[in-house]
Amino acid sequence: MGPVTSPVPPDPATLQPCLPSPLQEIEDPPFARRGVRLLLKRDDLIHPDLPGNKWRKLEPNLRAAAAAGARALLTFGGAYSNHLRATAAAGRLLGFTTIGVVRGDELADAPLNPSLARCAADGMRLHFVDRGTYRRKTAPDVIAALHDRFGAFQVIPEGGSNALAAQSCSQLGRELCRAADTVAVACGTGGTLAGLAAGLGLGQSALGFPVLKGGSPHFLQETVEELQRAAFGGRCGDWRLDDRFHCGGYARRTPELDAFADAFEDRHRLPLERVYVAKLLLGLTTLADEGAFPPGSTVAAVITGSP
Ligand SMILES: *Cc1c(COP(=O)(O)O)cnc(C)c1O
Repeated sequence: MGPVTSPVPPDPATLQPCLPSPLQEIEDPPFARRGVRLLLKRDDLIHPDLPGNKWRKLEPNLRAAAAAGARALLTFGGAYSNHLRATAAAGRLLGFTTIGVVRGDELADAPLNPSLARCAADGMRLHFVDRGTYRRKTAPDVIAALHDRFGAFQVIPEGGSNALAAQSCSQLGRELCRAADTVAVACGTGGTLAGLAAGLGLGQSALGFPVLKGGSPHFLQETVEELQRAAFGGRCGDWRLDDRFHCGGYARRTPELDAFADAFEDRHRLPLERVYVAKLLLGLTTLADEGAFPPGSTVAAVITGSP
């Protein structure tokens, strides 16, 4: 008998994503009143387990990890990270071992929240670190300590956002070429916006709504520029950020946000993901009310995830 070899991780394409994702026009009064068309780019329908931009960002990284012979993936996220969940699901579906480094050592002794419980059910090994360590998570000594504990692994950055991810997200922009004047997306790490803006055509612009309350107002701006430099060689596309709709910060909500999201769900029978997508639509609707979009123009909202 020859040596037992574990099966090679299959190609992510075997997971059969729904691409290009559907583009739907909806009739929404705040936009219709201003003579503006509203389109929803339904990236939430790309894959049931790796929805939205998580598919777009993970796919090239999974491919690179498989090509490099990696059998284990290590990545980072907060207690409610959609990226950790998508990575855990990808590991289960493709046969990678997954390790999730989670921000907050106080979580180690508490029952797992539903999001982390899903990660664990998909086989992800969870490793909780204090906030100071989390901030230094890619420092060589921190990574070395993780290797001592978990052995060999390939690192996927927080949020899956790196040059490969931004290049992959440029396809989102290309799928929207000529479809809209403005394309809007909610931003966490900024990888999706970096790619989207690069893929759009002449005369189109991208608008990002950060859901985190930035420490420094220019931090995300610089991150997106850096990702574009790494992925495309320099700043590209026409894009800007509107920082007014984080509603207090990551996963925070306000009565105004909840009322808006409930009413939007009622009008369109579309359940909204509340950490990102609800803030994006609140931002766009407010801008429509302010008259920011000229009559006769078309706005597309990227629905990056599902509840
Ligand atoms: C992760 C995530 C985002 C943020 O994407 P970035 O590329 O990190 O900016 C937006 N929407 C949803 C639903 C997400 O899960």
